[in-house]
Amino acid sequence: MARLTFFGAAGVVTGSKHLLETDSGARVLLDCGMFQGLRELEERNWTPPPVDPKHLDAVVLSHGHLDHCGYLPALAQQGFKGPIYCTAATAEVAGLVLRDSAHLQEEEALRAAKHPDRGLHTKALYTSDDVAKVAAAFRPVEYGEVRPDIAGCRFRLVDAGHILGSAITEFWFDTRKLAFTGDLGRYGRPLLRDPSPIAESDVVLCESTYGDRLHPASDPQADLGAVIVAAMARHGVVVIPSFAVGRTQEILYAIGQLQRTSAIPAVKVYVDSPMGIEADAIMERHPEAMRFDPKERFGPKDTSLGAEGVTNTQSAAESMKINDIKSGAIVISSSGMANGGRVLHHLRNRLPRSNDTVCFVGFQGPGTLGRVLLGGARQVRVFGVPVDVNAQIAHIDGFSAHADRSELLRWLGEFHNKPDVYIVHADPPAAASLAKAVSAQFGLNAQPAVQGKSVTI
Ligand SMILES: [Zn+2]
Repeated sequence: MARLTFFGAAGVVTGSKHLLETDSGARVLLDCGMFQGLRELEERNWTPPPVDPKHLDAVVLSHGHLDHCGYLPALAQQGFKGPIYCTAATAEVAGLVLRDSAHLQEEEALRAAKHPDRGLHTKALYTSDDVAKVAAAFRPVEYGEVRPDIAGCRFRLVDAGHILGSAITEFWFDTRKLAFTGDLGRYGRPLLRDPSPIAESDVVLCESTYGDRLHPASDPQADLGAVIVAAMARHGVVVIPSFAVGRTQEILYAIGQLQRTSAIPAVKVYVDSPMGIEADAIMERHPEAMRFDPKERFGPKDTSLGAEGVTNTQSAAESMKINDIKSGAIVISSSGMANGGRVLHHLRNRLPRSNDTVCFVGFQGPGTLGRVLLGGARQVRVFGVPVDVNAQIAHIDGFSAHADRSELLRWLGEFHNKPDVYIVHADPPAAASLAKAVSAQFGLNAQPAVQGKSVTI
């Protein structure tokens, strides 16, 4: 029997890493993500999974989020020299995300070395050199193409609709088949296609980030329009803390749609995020991973997903100039949870101003400045300095890139046969809740994956 072992994203929503060992002797890692979030989770990155990277045939990467690709440079450092299969768009997104991650870790290690009393790691988990090794190992695969490349096993990547380039992996081994969702996207979104249905599989590895929750029914584009209209009526500026990859492009597209339908007044838009600007360019280069080609729809010079009046600010000096703008502007800047990045400068400047608005467009994790602001704090610390909060604080949570409970069940309901389902990438209540629903609705054998445990399949 083949064996599947869960080295991450089992009981948690981070560190996605699953080892498939087949009867025929193939050893394949599905995703190679980093643990993120609370310190005890991040500490897990320092204990390598108990698998010799030199004996892995390949990694198949579902998409370029750090919790799915972020451990790849460490694996390369530990001696992995095999191919990493993913879509061409994912190779670019993961490259961008990993370069940023290595840079942050190098900085953290330098800071830790200055304060040895804090007991933090003074060596980076990996460096830019390790990321270069990973970039050289990417082997782009087209959506829908069946590849016979991994130790005699065939595989295929189909669109997961989660972020640009994201894929569901279908893997044929021995006489069986496994399907792995990676992260599953949503139905009916403007830029990305719906998650591809899979007709048959013996085993399904299904994410369940929102397995016990539904997304709000409201239209996030209309919500964003309402926030912008109200902010402009106050003659202020809107700051949107946004993840650089994926969310920034969705926000730009939404602004463009609002502009074209005259739903918002004339406004200048600043994308103050070098990583966000690069992510825009990656999206423009990969129409094969989208519902439409932005250059066909918005013209060959389009660089902003159809939004008008957009200025991309690369340098810190250009970024600082935005501080002088008093009204009629939107500033999109990362990070999305305001726990770092250039957006902190904007928050320090805008939070005290009562006619300005800070609009969060994603989930705000515990302990982040975003969560504190949404909690109604009247004063916060930015760069260690107290800052009064007089600005309007808004939150739009309909932009999620993850399928919710109903969408996960819709996708799982497409199978014509009765696969065994293992639930990954979920907190325990979400995993248990989805497993129960899958058993009750479809009569499938479904169970949450357990960290470090193997199952025979
Ligand atoms: Zn993801």
